Formats: sequence, C-alpha cells, structure tokens
Amino acid sequence: MKKLFHLSALITLFSFIANAQVYNLPNLPFGLADYEPFVDAQTMEIHHDKHHAAYVNNLNKAISGTAMEKISMNDLLMYASFRSATVRNNAGGHYNHSLFWDILAPKEKQGPISSELQKAIDSKFTSIDSLIATINKAASTRFGSGWAWLVVTPQGELAVYSTPNQDNPIMDISAERGIPILGIDVWEHAYYLKYQNKRADYLSGIWNLINWGAVSDKYAAALTDPLLKELEKDNWLAIKDFHKVMAQTFHPAEEKNFAPLRTRSGELYAKAILLKNSTPPTSANNERVQEALTRLEKQCLDIHQLVQKPSKDEEKKNTQLFEMITKAHDIFHEVEGLCHD
Ligand code: MN
Repeated sequence: MKKLFHLSALITLFSFIANAQVYNLPNLPFGLADYEPFVDAQTMEIHHDKHHAAYVNNLNKAISGTAMEKISMNDLLMYASFRSATVRNNAGGHYNHSLFWDILAPKEKQGPISSELQKAIDSKFTSIDSLIATINKAASTRFGSGWAWLVVTPQGELAVYSTPNQDNPIMDISAERGIPILGIDVWEHAYYLKYQNKRADYLSGIWNLINWGAVSDKYAAALTDPLLKELEKDNWLAIKDFHKVMAQTFHPAEEKNFAPLRTRSGELYAKAILLKNSTPPTSANNERVQEALTRLEKQCLDIHQLVQKPSKDEEKKNTQLFEMITKAHDIFHEVEGLCHD
C-alpha cells in the first residue's frame, strides 16, 4: 500500500513536470525603485509583474499541448506569419521584454561599451549621439504601440528599425530582419504613469538606463549567432515568392487538379526568372545554386510552353505536365537543400 502511494505521488509529480510551463517570467535584475527617476517603481512593477507576466502565461497557454511546445523561441518568432495572432503577440511580448530588462540598469551598475561596438556605431552612425537620435526618431514616429530596435543585420551590420505591437525583426512578417541587441519599448504601458502622453520625454529619460555593457555583450553574441544565417536565407524573398506559386500549382496537380497550373504557368515562369535574377544569401551564392536556378527557369519555361500548346489529348498533356512540374518541384527542393548545406 505504501509503495502504491509512492508510485501515485511519483506519477503526480511527473505529470506536473510534463505540464509545467515552458516559458518563465525572468526576474528583474534590479529592484523596482532602482530605475528611478527615469522609470518609476510602479511602472516597473506593472510592466514586469502584470504585462510581461501576461505575455508569458498567454504564450504557455497557446502552445500547451501543441507541437509548438517543442520548438525554440527563435523558430516561434522566425515563422510568425504561420502562427496565430496569439502566439505571434505573446512570443514577441516575452522575447522583447526579456531583452528590455537585460539592457536596462541604473547608472552605477552599467558596464562600458566594448571597443568593437563603439567602432561599429561610429562607422555606421558617426557617433553614439547620432545613433540615439536615429533610434529616438524611429521610436517617436512609430504610430501606436511598438518598439524601436538596434539590430545586427544578416550581413553583420548595425541598423535601426521599428516594428508595431510586439513584433520584432526576427519575425518573417518584418520587412527588415536582424537580431535585436537593443530595444526601446514605446507602448504607453512603459511610460504613461510618469510621462503620460509625452513619449519624447520618456525617450530622453530612458537613455540614462541603457547599459551599453549589456548591449555590447549582445552585439558580440549576435555576430556569431547561427540565427543570422537563418535570417539571411529566410529573407531571400524571391524564393519565397516562387515557392508560393509552386505550392499553389504543384499540390493541386498532385491531386489531379491541373487548373491552377494551366492558368498560372506564365506566372510560375515569371517567378522563376525573378528568382534566377535575384541575389541568393551570401552563404548560398555559388555555382551549384546558380546552375540549379538556370535549370529551374528552363523547366518552368517548358511547362509554360506545353500549357500553351494546343493538344487533342488533354489527359496525355496532364500526365506530361505532372511529370514536368514534379521535376521543377524537385529542382526547387535541390536549391533549398543547397542553401542548407
Ligand atoms: Mn512593454
């Protein structure tokens, strides 16, 4: 009986662990009042304990029991366009705020900027002051809620972007991609109690809390983060465009519906030309990829010409078209495979 009790206690414990939340609210690195006078303690408390906590809880709820429990935060963000608004907003909210707390510190706890980051800022923005002016401009012109970012682009350069709501530049819905190393929250919940509607005053205050030592650490980490290469590949828009038309014509053809392919073969060929003329990610810009893209373009031309050719035997033509689109689909995946080598 006693043994049985232990067993059931163990099972309860295991099921508790199995159901445990995937994401946790990180502690603030400093006391609530340590950010004063630039951000007041009550704002910090509500911002962290209520807003950020809600993003974490809602994210855990949304992914609980789904395949998303097992994938990384980077993947949640990167393919945000395929996720629900709930996942997109709350994964973004959790990531963005975790970064924000990391880079804020009271003056006496701030570390110095690294010479590498200083050099990169000077060469791109001429000085820290003009970088700050650029970020402030992005932050103050962001309509409604959102963030202003300093990011490392897939080319390893610094850039300033801004995104609405809880989006960020890792997400595929962002036109400009990169790994954020500094973010300024311009939601009213970040400043309203102290600054009311005066976003500009909040912005001039917040720079007193930016810990350039922490931003420097994030800069160094971003430059060697494999995510940078993933972002570059994911940002090859011509291949995404091509893929869309390919999927919308090939998959129906697999189910013997040739209407999409027959009506869109010209578009497929046009996208193949655009793809051939686009610039692949640096890591995939080699002869093998170029050679495969040339074959893909030719294959799509052949498909388009066959579609246009009058035929007495439509069945036979469909069989031929299926063979040809299957081959085009194979070449497309060959290109994708070469990009992931
Ligand atoms: Mn916020």
